[in-house]
Amino acid sequence: MNGTTDSTPAVVLDRVDVRYGPAAALHQVSLEVPRGSAVAVLGANGAGKSSLARAVSGLVRPSAGHVLINGVDVTHAPAHRIRRHGLLHLSEGRGVFASLTVAENLRLATLTLPRRDRQSALDTVYATFPVLEQRRRQLAGRLSGGEQQMLSMSRAVAVTPAVVVADELSLGLAPKMVDLVFATLAAMRERGAAIILIEQFVHRALSLADECLMLQRGTVAWRGPAAEAQEHALRGYLGTEG
Ligand code: ATP
Repeated sequence: MNGTTDSTPAVVLDRVDVRYGPAAALHQVSLEVPRGSAVAVLGANGAGKSSLARAVSGLVRPSAGHVLINGVDVTHAPAHRIRRHGLLHLSEGRGVFASLTVAENLRLATLTLPRRDRQSALDTVYATFPVLEQRRRQLAGRLSGGEQQMLSMSRAVAVTPAVVVADELSLGLAPKMVDLVFATLAAMRERGAAIILIEQFVHRALSLADECLMLQRGTVAWRGPAAEAQEHALRGYLGTEG
């Protein structure tokens, strides 16, 4: 316990619309994610999952509605400012500088920490992902896909973000790496992060998540406890769109 009694949700989406030109990708989507909890966002291809993730992270601007991080309205804030509220957007290959070494990447990841905390953050990263310590002098671009994903996730391990947006992190990874991805996300949540989880592995996503939001053609088709979502998923919300 860190003593906080603040019950403000880490993330609020209030009737958010996202459009790409004339096409609507999200329509009137609302969501609250409490601190220390995880929500799985499910839906067929094109349902709007990534658009939701990008709207939270400021990578796409909502055309209507509001996004709040820890009670602060960030709807019109650029992505780099939203990051300063403790948000980390993780997606395949994102945030890894291929032409820098592993150690240089990690140094950048810990720059936002006070100097005295950087070494222990690094120690935590190496304890979580020992292979990164072995590869610390190697260029990140030379790592395997799984190792690059570890390096990408190590930013979350180093800084303990308030909000983690995880967009298809296990795509194309070997089963052992998928286990590691989920274990790392679970550890983030234990440390108080709110997690928005988009995943192809529905069962795994639901076993980590507390809540579930199912999208269908950009609108909320169902929401409820993750434990009850399986049955709804099987009823066809995850079928092909169209
Ligand atoms: P997938 O699982 O295939 O990534 P998704 O559920 O994440 O799908 P989005 O990527 O959010 O869905 O896409 C929602 C809708 O918006 C789709 O119809 C998609 O074609 C469209 N879309 C997404 N990105 C863009 C873009 N940059 N420009 C135009 N349309 C887009």
